[in-house]
Amino acid sequence: MTAKSAAAAARATVYGYPRQGPNRELKKAIEGYWKGRVTADALRAGAAELRRNTWQQLADAGIHEVPTGDFSYYDHVLDTSVMVGAIPERHRDTFAADALDGYFSMARGTQDVAPLEMTKWFDTNYHYLVPELGPDTVFAADSAKQVAEFKEATALGLTARPVLVGPVSYLLLAKPAPGVPADFEPLTLLDRLLPVYAEVLAGLRAAGAEWVQLDEPALVQDRTAAELNAAGRAYRELGVLTDRPKLLVASYFDRLGEALPVLAKAPVEGLALDFTEAAVGNLEDLAAVGGLPRKRLVAGVVNGRNIWVNDLEKSLATLGTLLGLADRVDVAASCSLLHVPLDTTAERDIEPQILRWLAFARQKTAEIVTLAKGLAHGTGAIIAELAANRADLASRAGSPITRDPAVRARAAAVTEADARRSQPYPERTAAQRARLRLPLLPTTTIGSFPQTGELRTARADLRGGRIDTAGYEERIRAEIQEVISFQEKTGLDVLVHGEAERNDMVQYFAERLTGYLATQHGWVQSYGTRYVRPPILAGDIARPEPMTVRWTAYAQSLTDRPVKGMLTGPVTMLAWSFVRDDQPLGDTARQVALALRDEVNDLETAGTPVIQVDEPALRETLPLRTADRPAYLAWATEAFRLTTGGVRPGTQIHTHMCYAEFGDIIQAIDDLDADVISLEAARSRMQVARELAAHGYPREAGPGVYDIHSPRVPSAEEAAELLRTGLKAIPAERLWVNPDCGLKTRGWPETRSSLANLVAAARMVRGEL
Ligand code: GLN
Ligand code: ZN
Repeated sequence: MTAKSAAAAARATVYGYPRQGPNRELKKAIEGYWKGRVTADALRAGAAELRRNTWQQLADAGIHEVPTGDFSYYDHVLDTSVMVGAIPERHRDTFAADALDGYFSMARGTQDVAPLEMTKWFDTNYHYLVPELGPDTVFAADSAKQVAEFKEATALGLTARPVLVGPVSYLLLAKPAPGVPADFEPLTLLDRLLPVYAEVLAGLRAAGAEWVQLDEPALVQDRTAAELNAAGRAYRELGVLTDRPKLLVASYFDRLGEALPVLAKAPVEGLALDFTEAAVGNLEDLAAVGGLPRKRLVAGVVNGRNIWVNDLEKSLATLGTLLGLADRVDVAASCSLLHVPLDTTAERDIEPQILRWLAFARQKTAEIVTLAKGLAHGTGAIIAELAANRADLASRAGSPITRDPAVRARAAAVTEADARRSQPYPERTAAQRARLRLPLLPTTTIGSFPQTGELRTARADLRGGRIDTAGYEERIRAEIQEVISFQEKTGLDVLVHGEAERNDMVQYFAERLTGYLATQHGWVQSYGTRYVRPPILAGDIARPEPMTVRWTAYAQSLTDRPVKGMLTGPVTMLAWSFVRDDQPLGDTARQVALALRDEVNDLETAGTPVIQVDEPALRETLPLRTADRPAYLAWATEAFRLTTGGVRPGTQIHTHMCYAEFGDIIQAIDDLDADVISLEAARSRMQVARELAAHGYPREAGPGVYDIHSPRVPSAEEAAELLRTGLKAIPAERLWVNPDCGLKTRGWPETRSSLANLVAAARMVRGEL
């Protein structure tokens, strides 16, 4: 095809759409089903209606090819496990008795049976259920869901393209089943899995599918030669099948790199690539392999992960370049729109002037359609859209929200010394010891105490106007009093105020910083029926007034023991928000860090001797490609040091991290130059303590001795045993005693007993020193 005819054929499509419905109907129906209030039939009917509405809306907006199979009651990777028959042994009976209940038992567990493990979907905040495989896994095709949803869409008269997790990514996302040796590599099951995919593809072909999309996002990560070979083999074998639809292999979140030539050579009919900032390099790499002659290229030019309006002219230019590189070029978002909220028009509290800078799933769909139209018929066909887009972009670029001269001047004036404590760690630690006079193995907690129903009700009452601010604050002060008095009685050494005032560890701060936007309906799926509303880092960030100081100061006024101030760190503030796309992430991090630095300094001035800056997301935002990691870690650790670098040597800075393997970021943890770090460690029996020791980590550390993810109360002996294990790696002078994480999700009864046992364990082990 010539470039001109390739353009004329341009089509608009998406890979997936938010599942929840405009009012989170799906969440409500599923949770209703779990509680026995909604029947299975009603749940199925409601879900089918949501799917129909979504497809119809996409088609009405001008999307030529709608996705099917992206819908899920819980998670699309779990759906894939069902599709290939990888039902863990322990769930098989429930699954055989009732497929829907079996599905939910895999997702959530039951009284007696553990669910599948959940982990982050690449570097997004979506979590998938990890397939459990072993040498004895027998796959069996079950294409019922895929075929049924495809038929539902075609019954509406629409052109549909089923979307499946590809076989290589499926195996690379899996882990050894319980009882299977940890070094088992699921990818070794590829030959067994491919025939199952062949069967599913044949089933979809029989149902009338012209194209099927196979998502292979795992190929954008660093891959070994063996893994790349496996990918090549997989698509050769699927490619040579005769009874199959055309195959579109999709990648997103980063550049394909070495996997690009592998897929370009494979006998498949199309590739989908990410052409946003996240995947810079794809365009050059594609040109370098000579393009995709005789293949369809689906170009992800609309960012599927951020919430900003697209620069349509820039995207058109990219599309124009791509025209010469493939047989046919279609337009899409860079990835499924699952990762963005549904519709900006639902937002009533955001000023219209700012709202026009934003694009959620529905607006992104319109952008894709406009771009496809522009590509097919020339810019003349989209003159009005281009003019409106130019005006929106100009409004954003020229807004004082986007550029606050005071914030910019301050960020530009930052020196290396600002991001450095005035004395090195060994000297500071002497000053802190003299000031704090803590026992060996000091005990503390990570910050939050149970967020009780009463606290949530108080917040709802404040929002609903049933109580006033004074009444609400009275309620918070009462809670702080209770938390302090409990900690004193229990014998903890470094106390916390308990975070009663926080709705969420990011949102609370976002609401108090200028430049941050909150949404009313900007829900995004985190996992299953759990949705979050990430705030938006929309403009330059400043802190007009202290955010936590009076709560911490109030707590300190109630006790002679040191109270630890508590903040969320800059990297985590970015990781759990939508970030700006008009400046490097490191610049945004620096602005947030400076705002938090003011808070840290004010806490110190108010007499707070210990300040904790939480960075649970430091590890999870690590770039997918190792080559990109040093640059990320450089700005991330600098932002932390900038937040904490302004305090006197005698002020002790703590940090905290959880849910991660820390092995590959220990140098970065050291580079934070915090005095004390607390980490999740109970379940891995202090693995991280050994990793810190192996690295020669010189600072104080509190590997958790109480797994707060479970209501289970650890005995004092059990916690003591973990401490003894910790002592083998970290000397007593540098070992702290604390839970794995905050206690906000726990109830008071187990919190009381667990912390009493934790203090008893510390005393027991101190006696043995
Ligand atoms: N300080 C926070 C808390 O205790 C830390 C939460 C987290 O690490 N996710 O709740
Ligand atoms: Zn934590």
